[in-house]
Amino acid sequence: MLDNNPIIQALKEKYEEQFQSQPDFYKAPGRINLIGEHTDYNDGFVLPAAIDKAIYYAASKNDLNKLRLFSYDYDEFFEIGTDELKKVETHWANYLIGVTAQFQKRGLKPGGIDCVFGGDIPLGAGLSSSAALECGFAYCLNDQFNYGIDKSELIFMAQKAEHEYAGVMCGIMDQFASTYGKEGHVMKLDCRSLDHEYYPLTNDQADIILCDTKVQHSLASSEYNIRRNECEKGVAIVKEKYPQINSLRDASPEMLDVVKNKMEENVYQRCHYVIHEIIRVEKACQSLLKNDFITFGKLMYETHNGLSKEYLVSCHELDVLVDIARENSDVLGARMMGGGFGGCTINIIRKGGAEKFISTIEKEYSKRTGNMTEIYRVIIADGARKLNP
Ligand code: ADP
Ligand code: MG
Repeated sequence: MLDNNPIIQALKEKYEEQFQSQPDFYKAPGRINLIGEHTDYNDGFVLPAAIDKAIYYAASKNDLNKLRLFSYDYDEFFEIGTDELKKVETHWANYLIGVTAQFQKRGLKPGGIDCVFGGDIPLGAGLSSSAALECGFAYCLNDQFNYGIDKSELIFMAQKAEHEYAGVMCGIMDQFASTYGKEGHVMKLDCRSLDHEYYPLTNDQADIILCDTKVQHSLASSEYNIRRNECEKGVAIVKEKYPQINSLRDASPEMLDVVKNKMEENVYQRCHYVIHEIIRVEKACQSLLKNDFITFGKLMYETHNGLSKEYLVSCHELDVLVDIARENSDVLGARMMGGGFGGCTINIIRKGGAEKFISTIEKEYSKRTGNMTEIYRVIIADGARKLNP
């Protein structure tokens, strides 16, 4: 199994050249999110899945009290003593240093480790290469030093690494999906309780294709904070009338309508989107159980409309990609994926329709925007794990 994968072969050779010994191998995947966007910080539901694009690690402990790291994709070596962990200039190293620091915070003292890593998750495209990097390394350290820490804790250590060493205040979905992913299944994650349930979505039922806008507008982080603030304002107004409400997760469409005239229009629109998006996740799960991809796809299109027209986090390029998808009867559903203002759309395609979809969208996207899209075909896969030789 290891020998068939060219990435692993390349890492193995590099590891032998760099460290003159034989490593163990690990893997952690990127993720997609089928539906449930901007619901995580409203205590709602999301529906992510791990994918067959991943980061792979060739690693083994050393007796040197040093992290000796080699990024295959950047062709760059980095080394730091385990007693002197800190944020560094080498961007990619921070994720791995950050993870190691979380073990130390628990009073554990991982000795040194030698690691060569690399993968095929496109960076910064919204497939969460950063969470994969953290989750895979957390899994690797836990295994190499036999700490026996439960996966349910490793995900929080990975998240903390991103907060503290990459400075990104991410939620828990990405680490969750990269660690708990299951082949042929999406997971409905309750962002309040962190309970999760699997629902079937296999490669035989439909193809999943991501189309990258190749743009990332600078609005993304400022508008994100504004949306969070608008949601909080909405909750405060609903709560005046219904004191039991602590987040938009608790509010119904009827409650929102009762207090509509007390809200500014923008706040109402944002709350309307979130409350209905949380309901859509539930409906999407039910439609998967019935093998009803027509309904599932319609819900995805509704999500895109909501994100574009009510939540105002789409952009011209994302809207164009979804418009092109809508014109193709092989596309069951399409929507922007992720925070917005760039990144990818996710498209669910009837079996047999993928080739035509890809050629049309490549042609039309460049005609309508002047940019080239990049296409990623993905298959739902298992979460982080050790690879057997
Ligand atoms: P995303 O998580 O959406 O892919 P981020 O900006 O959060 O984008 O994370 C991307 C960063 O993660 C990169 O800049 C790099 O530092 C690190 N990274 C991800 N994948 C790799 C890789 N294969 N090799 C080295 N570093 C990586
Ligand atoms: Mg990231």
